[in-house]
Amino acid sequence: MVCKNCKANPVINLPNSNITLCKNCFLKYFERKAYKTILRYKMLRPEDKTVAVGVSGGKDSFSLLYFMNKIAEKKRQINIKVVSVDEGIKGYRDLKHVKDYCKERGVELHVYSFKEEFGMSLDQMVKKTDLKPCSVCGVLRRFLLNSKARELKADRIVTGHNLDDEAQSVLMNQFRGSMERSARLGPVTGIVADSRFVRRVKPFYFLTEREITAYCFLRALPVEFGECPYAHSSYRGGIRDMLNEFTARHKQTKHAIINSFLSILPLLKKDFAEVEIKGCKNCGEPCSGETCKVCDFIKSLK
Ligand code: SF4
Ligand SMILES: [Zn+2]
Ligand SMILES: [Zn+2]
Repeated sequence: MVCKNCKANPVINLPNSNITLCKNCFLKYFERKAYKTILRYKMLRPEDKTVAVGVSGGKDSFSLLYFMNKIAEKKRQINIKVVSVDEGIKGYRDLKHVKDYCKERGVELHVYSFKEEFGMSLDQMVKKTDLKPCSVCGVLRRFLLNSKARELKADRIVTGHNLDDEAQSVLMNQFRGSMERSARLGPVTGIVADSRFVRRVKPFYFLTEREITAYCFLRALPVEFGECPYAHSSYRGGIRDMLNEFTARHKQTKHAIINSFLSILPLLKKDFAEVEIKGCKNCGEPCSGETCKVCDFIKSLK
């Protein structure tokens, strides 16, 4: 077998399209696909100057950092600011490589920890609550990402979410009967524009986890491949395993979930466009009730 484009030695076969590519052609294919997604969904508008890049140090976000830095080097009018969250998970979260990488390339890095921002690490929080660690972690991380990106005057937040993540989220919301959450998904997240929300966009929306792993490896990015000790207990973990097992037998499954979801997404966004966004009485962050989930949760720990 040879590369479909240039007949060189192949490094990857893409089962969905059934094509085989060499290293150079795959890297080009990957970056072109991510860039096309940016253009198609107007993820970066001409007026966007500051872009916050959410980086955890895992393969998705490290690949995103590399890719966005490449764009920023070409398009000088874009300034990227890396936003990293240290949840405080012993033996897992280590931002050393992210720090070194940003320092070497002169990229602005901002690290925020749960301990400093909320008074406790995630490890300490999970000992005091019955809530699942991933539910707590997800809410607090999104809160920090939005509020800090706004403080940094970012016009956009880019995240490394991929096609597998999104297919899992769509199924999770379906299984839980939470269509409002699904309405907030998509390549450009959120339902209505509100200045308190910095729009989150996902350039890797149409790239699979496997493709990102290959990209990361072929670009020799210094990524930690360890798994979070709380991952096994998550609802998402169960959905991921089921979806992977099913996709192994039916190649198109994840792509089909995303394609059918995108065809109903405009209707979902329209359906939930009337939901009123208030300001939390304690912290001022946008929320649907009188106080936000984060303030309620932190109060419950005390
Ligand atoms: S697996 Fe769960 S607890 Fe661990 S980093 Fe991810 S969301 Fe947070
Ligand atoms: Zn080739
Ligand atoms: Zn609040």
